[in-house]
Amino acid sequence: MSVLTVTTAERLRLATEACGQIRLTPCRKRILEYLASQRLPMTIEMLQGSTALGGAFDSTTIYRTLMLFVEAEIVRQFRLRHKLSFFALNTPGTRFEFLICRRCGKIQELPDVPSISNYEASICTQTGYRMLYHALELYGLCPQCQAALGTSPKANKLPVSPRSWKLEARHRLPD
Ligand SMILES: [Zn+2]
Repeated sequence: MSVLTVTTAERLRLATEACGQIRLTPCRKRILEYLASQRLPMTIEMLQGSTALGGAFDSTTIYRTLMLFVEAEIVRQFRLRHKLSFFALNTPGTRFEFLICRRCGKIQELPDVPSISNYEASICTQTGYRMLYHALELYGLCPQCQAALGTSPKANKLPVSPRSWKLEARHRLPD
């Protein structure tokens, strides 16, 4: 099932249900609501800069809340784009398959590939494992970045992170 087929309200309902004994303080509730409305994983900075949470909670509170949810497996944490932490709701039907531009850092959901779920099912049969999950990251150059770079051979040598690319540029001595 694609994440696109599960509504925001349904995602929020499932996440709230998964909270069980966890008391839903205003901050916890707002974070769940916000993550339920997002189709892609978010960084703490993105959460803090959102209009939904905007300035209402400091980054420590947001971080602690996210860690509580990660511990309870309500939220999944990933390191994408050069080890930056991203967070997404871990509700049934959510896929963790992303296509990431190595130049501008844009993230989008990968198109649904049914062979991946077939592969998981065959691994379960072969190994006896159950409740598998996976996170898949594919890196490449988005169409806009291809257009910006043209056919420059440098395109093959780009670092994965836009941040490290900028750092590299800064450390280069002026001509
Ligand atoms: Zn790009």
